[in-house]
Amino acid sequence: MFAGHYGVAFALKRAEPRVSLGTLFLAVQLVDILWGGTLLLGWEHARVVPGYLAASPLEFLDYPITHSLLAGLAWGAAAALIYYSLPTTNVSHHGRAAAIVGLAVLSHWPLDVLMHAPDLPLAGSASTKLGLGLWKSVPLTIAIELLVLAAGVALYVTRHSRRHPVRPGRLAVVLAVIVAVFLASFLGAPPSNLHLVGIGAIAIGVVMTALGWWADRPAARA
Ligand SMILES: [Zn+2]
Repeated sequence: MFAGHYGVAFALKRAEPRVSLGTLFLAVQLVDILWGGTLLLGWEHARVVPGYLAASPLEFLDYPITHSLLAGLAWGAAAALIYYSLPTTNVSHHGRAAAIVGLAVLSHWPLDVLMHAPDLPLAGSASTKLGLGLWKSVPLTIAIELLVLAAGVALYVTRHSRRHPVRPGRLAVVLAVIVAVFLASFLGAPPSNLHLVGIGAIAIGVVMTALGWWADRPAARA
């Protein structure tokens, strides 16, 4: 999944408005960003197989460090602890905010289960693997991804407050980028090599984190 992960980030922003949308964008895609690194290091393996699934040319061979349920729980706990340990001037909701960040990281795995072929392990590479394979259908992929994204954005837009407003222009830019990257991931030419896939996963994660932070910045007071 790609676009739907950001739907979760938009929704969780309203569950705890103190957490920056940039932090939540980083959290929901954390394991994909890490996966870019483990792919480049050769610690996890995939290959590009044009036409493998209608909406994804990637065959994931093994990725228990980033994409097992156990790893999702561990990365979620680590992210929550790191967030909790950051200095804050507002301690009242800090524990709750840290838990929301951890939940955002963990949310990645069940959403990936919807789309991937049965290649997402519960624990190690030899453990049971799950995946409903919605990527086999382009119409279903588009419907589910955009539905999850739209549900999150609807919450984000309707539950805003004066202290945590919506900035429509910036939100439109962010949504345009999310939808463009999502559509390009299967309508565009398959990546020519895994090096590009790994670098792309990291670069997209970094750019989206910056965009989330930018979209969430309160407007300067007049
Ligand atoms: Zn993923």
